[in-house]
Amino acid sequence: MNDSLMRAVEARREEVVALTRDLIAFPTVNPPGEAYTPCAEYLAGYLRRMGFQTQMIRGEGSPGDTDRYPRTNVVARREGRAPGPTVHFNSHIDVVEAGAGWTVDPFAGTVRYGRVYGRGACDMKGGLAASMIAVGAFLEIHPDHPGAIEISGTVDEESGGFGGVAHLARKGFFSKPRVDHVIIPEPLNKDRICLGHRGVWWAEIETKGRIAHGSMPFLGDSAIRHMGAVLHAFEHELFPALDAKQTRMPVVPEGARRSTMNINSIHGGQTEDFFPGLPAPNVADSCRIVIDRRFLLEEQIDTVKEEVVSILDRLKRDRPSFDYAMRDLMEVLPLMTERDAPVASAVAEGIRAIFRREPDYVISPGTYDQKHIARIGHLHDCVAYGPGILDLAHQPDEWVGIEDMVESAKVMAIGLEALLVRPRH
Ligand SMILES: [Zn+2]
Repeated sequence: MNDSLMRAVEARREEVVALTRDLIAFPTVNPPGEAYTPCAEYLAGYLRRMGFQTQMIRGEGSPGDTDRYPRTNVVARREGRAPGPTVHFNSHIDVVEAGAGWTVDPFAGTVRYGRVYGRGACDMKGGLAASMIAVGAFLEIHPDHPGAIEISGTVDEESGGFGGVAHLARKGFFSKPRVDHVIIPEPLNKDRICLGHRGVWWAEIETKGRIAHGSMPFLGDSAIRHMGAVLHAFEHELFPALDAKQTRMPVVPEGARRSTMNINSIHGGQTEDFFPGLPAPNVADSCRIVIDRRFLLEEQIDTVKEEVVSILDRLKRDRPSFDYAMRDLMEVLPLMTERDAPVASAVAEGIRAIFRREPDYVISPGTYDQKHIARIGHLHDCVAYGPGILDLAHQPDEWVGIEDMVESAKVMAIGLEALLVRPRH
């Protein structure tokens, strides 16, 4: 281990705290996408002082982008002294709403018990700050490194990343030859490497009926009862079948190490949302559900859809007057970077050096911005690694440990050395 590099990270302990507090003070709440531009400008100024060239890129035309709430991203790049690979640290600057239940001001960056508190402290302004001091320390020790380093602060991760990483990926910011290795400092715990995520398929299913007076339902055809038949079939056939599908993906928590499906919503009949709060006595002519199916590397998306469609088609054959429509809302394929990929090996080397143990390799149950880097950028050497305890994300009194930030910055600095100064791949 390079002791001078470790000392250079240690020397930035105060800096990482100040940086995290400054970042928390921008209430970059999404939705609606508050304070993105001042936060991105603050980062750009900071990175320029570290010798980076910066670019502001607005996610124009993306969901939520307006003059009142511009989707402002910052991408910073610093060229080395010789040709070589590029390592990119990508962090999202948006946070979810503070919500109720806080005992400290969510945007004050209160420091207490060796922790920085605030909305986004853990997810993921602490990770962004840690990656910045890792880079600062690396540049102090290796001013003549080959290759290049990039740091980006991107928006809208919490709402799908369309105005952030997806927008940048479409413009070539996450593709070779510009970038080779990507680390996303999401709060996965400082000794774990996140290699990817399960797949997602969202769809809306609508059953159809015929409206009639509620006192004579036999004259109509209830879409809600048809949906009941769908849910019954899901309950007795689909859910047990999904539960039996295990994966080699190391998903955490362990309950997600299989196929799952959630029914996100159900709506049938007339709404109650009006005065005096009662719907008219009608037989429902439509009932809709939105399903959220999470699938595995071992599954094909076509098969995932077919399992649902075959149940619906069978009901159509067997159940009098049953009819349905299905609409795809979103699909993302599952992703898993291999453990021996260059960026995963480099971070693993840092974890071994700092914690004297093998890293845990994990897969996220849900997706994050890596999906856009893989699917749009076609860049597969990407992992998520950063400080912070995942369970604290989006909670009241969210915090990040100062020691955790320093230690994970050491891991990232060692990872940078492995990728840029002594590449073995
Ligand atoms: Zn996050």
